[in-house]
Amino acid sequence: MLSEKLSLYSYCKNCKVNCCKGTPRVSEKEKEKILKKTKKDYFKKEALGYYVTRKEKGFCKYFKRGKCSIQHAKPIDCILYPIDPIYNEMGEISL
Ligand code: SF4
Repeated sequence: MLSEKLSLYSYCKNCKVNCCKGTPRVSEKEKEKILKKTKKDYFKKEALGYYVTRKEKGFCKYFKRGKCSIQHAKPIDCILYPIDPIYNEMGEISL
């Protein structure tokens, strides 16, 4: 059994919102879904075919009033954090 010290629960319980201080990778499909709902384009295209969110004051621009403002379309990269998936040249997670 995994000790609480090493578990994801323990990691998130002491949340310092580190996941929203980064620039999550977002696929084209995820970006379209977010734009359809928010009409706010805070994305920057990366050379490898995926997008990342822009930052403002040290946080992802979708981080508003202490939480993620796009819970309805949160990118898989954020859902999986702190697990860091591998992306293929199409900007999709490669399993
Ligand atoms: S998309 Fe939401 S969960 Fe992901 S880094 Fe930005 S604010 Fe945080």
